[in-house]
Amino acid sequence: MGKRWLPFASYNLWALFAPAVGQEHWHCDMKRGYAKVRKREPDVAAILAQDTVPQTIGLLAQQGIYEFHLNPQRLRDTDGVAKVFEILQLNQQSAEAQQRLNQILTQYYEHPILLKKRIFSLSRGDEGFPEPIKLYYENITFNLFAAIDCILLEPDGRLHILDLKTGHSDFDERQAFVYLLAANYLFPRQQAIASFYNLELCKWSEPITATTSQLNAIRIELARLAQRHEMEKKKYRKNPAEFDRIFPPNPGFRCQHCQFNSVCQFAV
Ligand code: SF4
Repeated sequence: MGKRWLPFASYNLWALFAPAVGQEHWHCDMKRGYAKVRKREPDVAAILAQDTVPQTIGLLAQQGIYEFHLNPQRLRDTDGVAKVFEILQLNQQSAEAQQRLNQILTQYYEHPILLKKRIFSLSRGDEGFPEPIKLYYENITFNLFAAIDCILLEPDGRLHILDLKTGHSDFDERQAFVYLLAANYLFPRQQAIASFYNLELCKWSEPITATTSQLNAIRIELARLAQRHEMEKKKYRKNPAEFDRIFPPNPGFRCQHCQFNSVCQFAV
């Protein structure tokens, strides 16, 4: 018998629901409608099948770090960057992506931050959906999805969940809390911390920790989001003409960078 389908939550869903601090003006709920509710409609599916430039760079940067550590000799070879560039076939990418990825790989080659660390796991970034973690809150049962880039073992025995970033946006603490919640279920006997490292800015965040009551609050927040998202999805399925009322648009200059601007009738 197949697994019972459940509402889900993830950091990505949370970010689509509510903006990070300082991003409130640009937040558009309609993007959640397209990305999570209308994702199987052919024109939306075609958009989602194509990674945006930032997504491509993020994914290939992760793969580059993975390739360096798969064979750490590449971090010593004088042509290590060129080798990884070739393995990832980066010459097939756009000029912008090639230039930024070359810089990311070169910077990492010069400062390989994971080289002297104990790496518990390091993902390539293209493994697909992680296994869901089944969580409960009151009468809500939901699946939490948390794709973790890297887990390190700290000398004091704590797990260190590291998220590798590209681009210039600020770190969002909520993502770290989602990872810490996931770690709490996956490794219940171990304490964990989380941090972000930006591969383009070579900037490491402060380590982030969470108390049991903070993790509980995050679980409750995610349960409510999962439930609300599910209800809004059902509302849309019942009455597709209500799409813009269920997922209100917020048109503005950010529409030019929105991946749905070719299908969105509100795009500016
Ligand atoms: S094009 Fe603009 S209004 Fe439409 S979904 Fe994107 S950001 Fe929202």
